[in-house]
Amino acid sequence: VIGGGGAGLAAAVSAAENGATAILIEKTAALGGNTVRAGGPYNAVDPQRQEGVPAASDLAMESVIALTEKEAVSPEHQAWMDQLKSDLDAYNSGDTTKLFDSIALHILQTYDGGDYAGQLPMIEKLVEESLPTSEWMAANGVEWKEEISTVPGGLWPRAHTPINAAGGDFIKASEAKANELGVEIILECKGNELITDETGKVVGVKAEMSDGTPVTLNAKKAVIIATGGFGANKEMRQEYDPSLGANLGTTNSPAITGDGIIMAEDVNANLVGMEYIQSLPLGDPETGALNGWMGAIGVEYYYQINKEGVRFMAEDGRRDTMTASLLQQTDAMSYVITDTNRESEGTEVNLWGDNIEELVKNGTIYRADTIEELAELIGVDAETLKKTHEDFNSYVAGGSDPEFGRKLFGDPIETAPFYASPRMPTVHHTMGGIEINLKGQALDKDGNAIPGLYAAGEVTGGIHGKNRLGGNALVDIHVFGREAGKNAALDN
Ligand SMILES: Cc1cc2nc3c(=O)[nH]c(=O)nc-3n(C[C@H](O)[C@H](O)[C@H](O)COP(=O)(O)OP(=O)(O)OC[C@H]3O[C@@H](n4cnc5c(N)ncnc54)[C@H](O)[C@@H]3O)c2cc1C
Repeated sequence: VIGGGGAGLAAAVSAAENGATAILIEKTAALGGNTVRAGGPYNAVDPQRQEGVPAASDLAMESVIALTEKEAVSPEHQAWMDQLKSDLDAYNSGDTTKLFDSIALHILQTYDGGDYAGQLPMIEKLVEESLPTSEWMAANGVEWKEEISTVPGGLWPRAHTPINAAGGDFIKASEAKANELGVEIILECKGNELITDETGKVVGVKAEMSDGTPVTLNAKKAVIIATGGFGANKEMRQEYDPSLGANLGTTNSPAITGDGIIMAEDVNANLVGMEYIQSLPLGDPETGALNGWMGAIGVEYYYQINKEGVRFMAEDGRRDTMTASLLQQTDAMSYVITDTNRESEGTEVNLWGDNIEELVKNGTIYRADTIEELAELIGVDAETLKKTHEDFNSYVAGGSDPEFGRKLFGDPIETAPFYASPRMPTVHHTMGGIEINLKGQALDKDGNAIPGLYAAGEVTGGIHGKNRLGGNALVDIHVFGREAGKNAALDN
C-alpha cells in the first residue's frame, strides 16, 4: 500500500483481515495525510442516531422534493427519484416532527451536488456502505459521538464525528489495528514508480527512503495506491484548472502532491475529472488551513459576513457556489460569526483541538461580549452588523431566510461572548484522479482493470463529480479503501 492516510490504512487493515501480508509505505515521518487534518464529519444515513434530530424546515423539504422532479439522466437515476418519492410518502404518513432521511436522498444529493458528473454505481456503493463501514471502523476502535450535525457543504444533518481529535481518531484506530494484524509500516519511504512484469501486471514499487536509500518492494498479489489528491501541488492544480490562480492557499498537507496519479499515469491508468478541484470559503487568511476558527461543529451554528458586515450567501449551500460568492466580496474576505453555545461550551478547545484562549490571544479570532463590540474589533460598522445579526436570528426563529434561502438552522446566536473568525477561499479537495471500478481496481484508458493495481481515496476520481459534499470524503476513503484491501488480498 502506497500512502498512510485514511484510505491506505483502511486498505492495509482490510487486506490483512482477508489474509494478506501487507506492507504500507508512507513518505512523511508520520501517518495521517489529509485524514489527520479532517474535522471528522462522516456522512451516513443512520436512523438510530438521527432519531433525536428535529424535522428539517419546509424550505429544506422543498429541496428534497425538488430532487424527485429532476429530468432523469438515466433509468437508474429515475429509479432513485421514484424511490425517494416513496420514501417521502412513507415519512408523510408517520411522525413528521422527526428528521426525514433516506439512502435515496443521500444518493441523489451526492449525484445532484456533483452536477451528475459522478458515476452513479460508485455513489450507490459509497452511500449504501457508509453506515456498515462506520460500524466496521467502530469494531476497529473508532468511537463515534451520538450527536449528528451538518458539515458545511454536506447539505443534510447526517454527519457523524469521532469522539476525540477529529480525523486523528481514524488514524489512531487504524494504526493500532494495522499493528495488531501485523501490517508492516515503513515511514519516510516514498513510492516513486510502479514495477510491471512482461505482461503489464503491476508487481511492485520502486521507492526511496528519506535519506536517499533506494528500496524495492515486490508485491505477490497487488499494489494499492492511496497517496491522496493533489491539492498542495500548485503546478498540477494550474495545469488542470488554471482559473484557480497560483496564489490560493490550501487546507491540504504539503505532502499531498498527486504522486500516485503520476505513477499510475505511467502504467496507462485512466484519469477522470481532473479539472474538478474544490475550494472552500473557510480557509485561514494567512495559511489557507482549515483549523483555527469557531463554528466547525456544524453549519447550523454560524453565519458568515463580508468586510461590510453583511451576509452574502446561504451558509449551508454547495461548496463551489459558496466559494464563488466569497470571491466576489471585498478582498475575498469574510468573518464567521458564532456564540459560545455548542462548540466552546464547557471546553477549552474547538473542534480542531485549537486552544480557544490562544486563538483569541494571538488575534487569530476575535471575541466580545456584545455584537457591537465584536464589530468594532473587526472594523465593521456596528449598526450594520447588529442589523445583520438581528435579521439572522429572526430567520432562525422563523426557519427561513428570505435573503439567501438558507435552509438549515440551529439555535439563535445569542449567548455571549460572541466570536468572529476571519476566513478566505482555500483549495480543499481534488475530485479527479485514477478511475477505479467497484472493486477498487485501477482502470486503463480502455476501461480494463490494470492487473495487480488498485487505488482508493482522494487519489481516485469519478465518484463525487464536479463538487464533493462535505462529509462524503471520509466515507469514500474508508468504503473504497476497505474494498480495495479486501480484493487485493484475494487477487491472484
Ligand atoms: C483540513 C481538511 C479537513 C477535512 N475535513 C473533512 C471532513 O471533515 N469530512 C470529510 O469527509 N472530508 C474531509 N476532508 C477531506 C478528507 O479528509 C480527505 O479527502 C481524505 O482524508 C483523503 O484521504 P486519503 O487517505 O485518500 O489521503 P490522505 O489522508 O491525504 O493520505 C495520503 C497519504 O499518502 C502519503 N503519500 C503521498 N505520496 C506518497 C508517496 N509517493 N509515497 C508514499 N506515501 C505518499 C501522504 O504523505 C499521506 O500521508 C478534509 C480535508 C482537509 C485537508
